[in-house]
Amino acid sequence: MVKAIEGAGTAEQTWLDWPAPARWPALPLDPAGPPLIVAPHPDDEILGVAGLMAMLDAAELVAVTDGEASHPHSTVHTQLELAAIRRDETAEALRRLGLGAAPVHRLGQPDGKIDEDAVAADLTGRLTPGRWCLATWREDGHPDHEAVGRAAARACAVTGAVLLEYPIWMWHWAGPDDPRVPWRRAYRIDLTPAAQRAKAAAIAAFPSQIAPLGPEPGDAAILPPHILARFTRSFETVLR
Ligand SMILES: [Zn+2]
Repeated sequence: MVKAIEGAGTAEQTWLDWPAPARWPALPLDPAGPPLIVAPHPDDEILGVAGLMAMLDAAELVAVTDGEASHPHSTVHTQLELAAIRRDETAEALRRLGLGAAPVHRLGQPDGKIDEDAVAADLTGRLTPGRWCLATWREDGHPDHEAVGRAAARACAVTGAVLLEYPIWMWHWAGPDDPRVPWRRAYRIDLTPAAQRAKAAAIAAFPSQIAPLGPEPGDAAILPPHILARFTRSFETVLR
């Protein structure tokens, strides 16, 4: 179900004041080999699970789109230019996590029009029983994030891989104890100080998203500080 992603969303302080996450179980960090990380757009994987990737010191990335539609009314960059910029930003972010040699599979799907069946087929070919597959949550509220989550769920069901869904936009439209969120499936991943630092450095590798491209409204930052604040916590959250 696609949600309205607009306005300022839930303030990070509201989430920080919520006691529930302290009671969520810690995710046992015992993956069967490098986890497969699936990103609808460049930066989702970093916002969601960069700390996990840094702590495991292993990852294999499936970049479904190049995120070329982030600024449809940009006066600075064409979509082709944005795609190239965002591919490079992902590569730099992975380097900053110490994962510069991690395999990256770029599916080159159109941003905003993800072919769910094709993603499911691709992931099915990469997953094995027990392997971790981290994908955006099926109910995250953004159509691409939900399509990727559904595709990953199908691929995990077929292969016996372990599905771990990471929310991104849920932190915007939901609030503490929101009944639309399956909190009983939530696990926390406590980040080491080194992993937190690596994650912050990796997020800073996306200037096309965290800073304005130019002064026009169509060039505004996609991830202004109040949104980025949600991804500076000392823990990450997955739904298992
Ligand atoms: Zn995204």
